[in-house]
Amino acid sequence: MRVGFGNDIHRLVEGRPLMLGGIEIPFDKGEDAHSDGDVLLHAISDAILGAKAMGDIGQLFPDDSPHTKDMPSLAILKSVQILSGARIINIDSTITLEKPKLANHIPAIRKSIADLLEINIKQVSVKAKTAEGLGPIGEGKAIKAEAVVLIE
Ligand code: MG
Repeated sequence: MRVGFGNDIHRLVEGRPLMLGGIEIPFDKGEDAHSDGDVLLHAISDAILGAKAMGDIGQLFPDDSPHTKDMPSLAILKSVQILSGARIINIDSTITLEKPKLANHIPAIRKSIADLLEINIKQVSVKAKTAEGLGPIGEGKAIKAEAVVLIE
């Protein structure tokens, strides 16, 4: 068994969808990114790659390549799962953002990730918290996600 860790941060800007776990969350801002900017899926992807010491998604999906422009992060995570050959035991993750409240969206986010990875929703934990108004996340200028994954 091996453990992996991943994290990601993106600026929040107007005119972009807020993507989390492959779900679009209704909000007036979204992640500024070359791909769709889904911080949660990027953190989970890096955690899986980390568990196999396979580098990070920036190496596999460069953000200066036309092939990754607006790429759905669901496709990135699925590619990482296949490339790594990882059998996922469980994922735990935390999203840090000031707004909007995510409690009502978390079941759909967990199901989206579980369905994509063909695992049980009980193997996917997603938590959300604020930054208590501190720093750029607290000011609503950025969103962060962190994830750990156990694989065998
Ligand atoms: Mg990212």
